[in-house]
Amino acid sequence: MLMESSSLFRNKISFLSFLVFLLVLSSPCKFIQSPMDFGPLNLLQTTKTASLDFGRIYFNTPLAVLRPESAKEISLLLKLVSASSFSRVITVAARGAGHSINGQAQALNGIVVEMDSLPSSIEIHKSRGHGDYSYVDVSGGTMWIELLEDTLKEGLAPRSWTDYLYLTIGGTLSNAGISGQTFKYGPQISNVLQLDVVTGTGDLVTCSPTKSPDLFYAVLGGLGQFGIITSARILVQEAPTKVKWVRAFYDDFEKFTRDQELLITTMADKVDYVEGFIVLNEQSIQSSSIAFSPNLTSIIPQLFPSGSSPQIYYCIEFAIYDHPNKHSTLDQVVEEMSKKMSFIPSHIYSVEVSYFYFLNRVKVEEMNLREHGLWDVSHPWLNMFVPKSGIAKFKDLLLETISSNAFEGPILIYPILRDKWNSDASAVLPGPGEERVVYIVGMLRSANPTRCSTKCLNDFLTENRKITQTVSDPIIGIRAKQYLPHYSSEEQWQDHFGEHQWRRLVRRKTEYDPLNVLAPGQKIFTRRS
Ligand code: FAD
Repeated sequence: MLMESSSLFRNKISFLSFLVFLLVLSSPCKFIQSPMDFGPLNLLQTTKTASLDFGRIYFNTPLAVLRPESAKEISLLLKLVSASSFSRVITVAARGAGHSINGQAQALNGIVVEMDSLPSSIEIHKSRGHGDYSYVDVSGGTMWIELLEDTLKEGLAPRSWTDYLYLTIGGTLSNAGISGQTFKYGPQISNVLQLDVVTGTGDLVTCSPTKSPDLFYAVLGGLGQFGIITSARILVQEAPTKVKWVRAFYDDFEKFTRDQELLITTMADKVDYVEGFIVLNEQSIQSSSIAFSPNLTSIIPQLFPSGSSPQIYYCIEFAIYDHPNKHSTLDQVVEEMSKKMSFIPSHIYSVEVSYFYFLNRVKVEEMNLREHGLWDVSHPWLNMFVPKSGIAKFKDLLLETISSNAFEGPILIYPILRDKWNSDASAVLPGPGEERVVYIVGMLRSANPTRCSTKCLNDFLTENRKITQTVSDPIIGIRAKQYLPHYSSEEQWQDHFGEHQWRRLVRRKTEYDPLNVLAPGQKIFTRRS
């Protein structure tokens, strides 16, 4: 009945009509009218994009979509929806760029708020010295690529990034926002000075570490549970112009992780970005190496000589930024650093690119995948945070579980430092807190439709489940946690958060979204009437 009701909407529904609609929906017989006037709340029936995300695994259709032009409209919507006399079932999900994997920005039979319709405002505040920070005020639906383009015009840029920039500010701040700079500056949520938020009850609140700090930290990494971010104040710094981007290959996992840890600890003042990936086969180099293509003709035959038995390699990817105050050339810095590293001799390659090209590198991969019809496909991704003590065991588990020949897409592995994360924020890292180094492992698989049927996609999802179940087994003791988590039962969520953080999450939910209206696609809480 609810699914059918969406077809009764026309393009725009007035505020009054919406009230009638909610009243009717909450009435016992659920008889739906179709009132149609223009009004302040433009709820649209065009719900196609709102039921789609990058994962292409879940396709939950909302009743309607709001394309707000101001935070006040979002507030009005949430005030209406939270007024329990009007509706007992309506939920609301903010949708950034819809780059979630498991329907996290969807709202089955609810209302999706498409954040890209908020006027994209980017206001840059340049430091005048004297301990004053440079920062930017940016609206929640803006994409990081837009922010980069604008700040670069002033010679500035945010400090902490994601690998891909066509994600929104509000979307990544609701998770954490991690990449190869995280070891140095923390995740994106550690680089925010202030947020404008509309809570689940429709209150418009400006919060920061000193103003409504509980809401501020609740929202950062809060999976959209406590409020909709309409604006964020983000730290920026002087942007480099050039980047030396280096790849070094290993045939030994221990040496690979030891060097990664060396880079992010004792060499942290020299290096600006550290990631790494498993090289399962030739394809796993080719798929992520467009910038390195001149080197590929020599790398591939060296790593995979014809007729040799399959071998797995590991690749550290690091980058050094060119700042005007650096005394040595980029080449000198790389040479000095590589002397202390243990990669396979002579298996190190580098390219020099602009800072913009480097940060926007995944776009080049996207265009290539789109050309081959491999972008708009299902993505059974799994991202995990693994404590240093469990990373070797986790790598073995992963390689035992997945079939290396069928694997299409990168497997990222790189370390971050726990002390760059604020434990007041909602984001979850594994362990009781004693291990400083934590690895992020991203299994970024694509289900290539020419080779992967529905059964094959289900097999991939089963493999992911096997991995998540094994790591939560206390006897095996890997103690990993999912990043961009996806669970379906409250028990699993409790286990994910751990006792203390679960209690805090429930308290914060009760305070900021007591009827569990927000972000139903996360499947943590059920809507209350
Ligand atoms: P959506 O998918 O639209 O939303 C995600 C969640 O946040 C939903 O629950 C939604 O309701 C909520 N939400 C959205 N906007 C707001 C808002 N304004 N206020 C409150 N809640 C909101 N992540 C990384 O950390 N590092 C990476 O390097 C990285 N690379 C990626 C590469 C690709 C190709 C893709 C597809 C994803 C990548 N991600 C990465 C994951 C990405 O950060 C998350 O999926 C993020 O949620 C996507 O942002 P979005 O704007 O698309 O959010």
